[in-house]
Amino acid sequence: MKPECPNARYGSIDRSVHYHARTMQLRSPLLALIVFLPVGAGAQDISVPEPMRQRVAQQAAALRPRLVEVRRDIHRHPELGFREIRTAKLVADRLRALKFDEVREQVGVTGVVGVLRGGRPGKVVGVRADMDALPIPELIEVPYKSTVANVKHACGHDGHVSIGLGVAEVLAGMRAEIPGTVVFLFQPAEEGDPDGGKSGAERMLEAGVFAGPAPTAIFGLHVMPTLQVGTIGVNVGAAMASSNRFTLTIVGKKTHAAYPHTGIDPVVIAAQVVSALQTIPSRMNNAAEPIVLSIGTINGGNRFNIIADQVVLTGTVRTLSQDGPERVRALIERVTRGITEASGATFTLDFPAGNPVTFNDPTLASASVPVLAEVMGGRDRLTSPPPQMGAEDFALYQQKIPGLFFFLGVGNTEKKITAMIHTEYFDMDEDALPLGVRALTSVTLDYLFRK
Ligand SMILES: [Zn+2]
Ligand SMILES: [Zn+2]
Repeated sequence: MKPECPNARYGSIDRSVHYHARTMQLRSPLLALIVFLPVGAGAQDISVPEPMRQRVAQQAAALRPRLVEVRRDIHRHPELGFREIRTAKLVADRLRALKFDEVREQVGVTGVVGVLRGGRPGKVVGVRADMDALPIPELIEVPYKSTVANVKHACGHDGHVSIGLGVAEVLAGMRAEIPGTVVFLFQPAEEGDPDGGKSGAERMLEAGVFAGPAPTAIFGLHVMPTLQVGTIGVNVGAAMASSNRFTLTIVGKKTHAAYPHTGIDPVVIAAQVVSALQTIPSRMNNAAEPIVLSIGTINGGNRFNIIADQVVLTGTVRTLSQDGPERVRALIERVTRGITEASGATFTLDFPAGNPVTFNDPTLASASVPVLAEVMGGRDRLTSPPPQMGAEDFALYQQKIPGLFFFLGVGNTEKKITAMIHTEYFDMDEDALPLGVRALTSVTLDYLFRK
């Protein structure tokens, strides 16, 4: 998950039929933005047999010591994207020990895929956990402090791996009764390729993780310190924003600064462009459909008394609709063209495909709400936070098949666990780990048992 996403870069995206189907739903700003949880649904809408639900609860709770141990082990040894060698080995060894039917390593560079076939015929479902850490120093004093300088599990993916393995263990223990197959995706490089290439989800998809057995739905979660432990945040529809980076180069004509009329000054033009681009969100966009357009860097010029030859601007665009990025790209181009043409300058705009909106399939999400409510001990333990302007490459899976991505509360104000993800001080209340296992196991099983 990328609240800031300073380094991530993404390649092109294969747009599937699902993409277009859900584009239509998202075009309505009301559908995209009004977050709601279905009312009226209750325990009677859960398809997993009651005794099995109780066993999931008991086993998830019993796993707590192991979940903490695994999370702390990974936390001590954080690995950046596509370098998750130790973490991937730990995962693959564990899945083999659990007698998984298939364990594939080095999928999408360092990913691990595990296939667990149930004892009864049924659907195929995916469960995803991301494994990478961030280039951020650890500044909290804890027994499990990172042993790697300037690398920290600051996005909680250590917790995701621990929870994913917990789900694997609970399901492996009841495999004879499971109708269908569970495909586990332990994914590298959710935060993007440190070397500027494609992100982990894209590489996993290219490696054929959905080719066979082919899941028809996928579930994932993210720890969230802004939610108290014991609560879950779930969105029906848009959960997180699309994210695109762009590079805008304004080309002028270099000359002596004392004779500006003999050149074309890209610094003055860039100043106009920066101001004018802000009219895209404020004047050209429907206020009911939020977008963010931020210029992060401006670089240009050679010397105080030389008119520069070019200025390079980089920035990011966030939207909550599937067609938002292309709409904003076209407007950036139009605004920049008008200003540069008026001044006699030229420009280039590089706007590669990015992460689409993390969009929770309404049918899948609505059906999972009663399950999550039961797991957490009541509907009042579920919140539906406003869609975040951060982004998540889980969205790439959701373009292929319906998916649900929800937020697991790991904050605890009494224990002073409040630091945001992607900060040096981030930590999680480990009481959330068994809850995460129970929640993720339960929605996965419910999908398999649902007719
Ligand atoms: Zn992150
Ligand atoms: Zn994350």
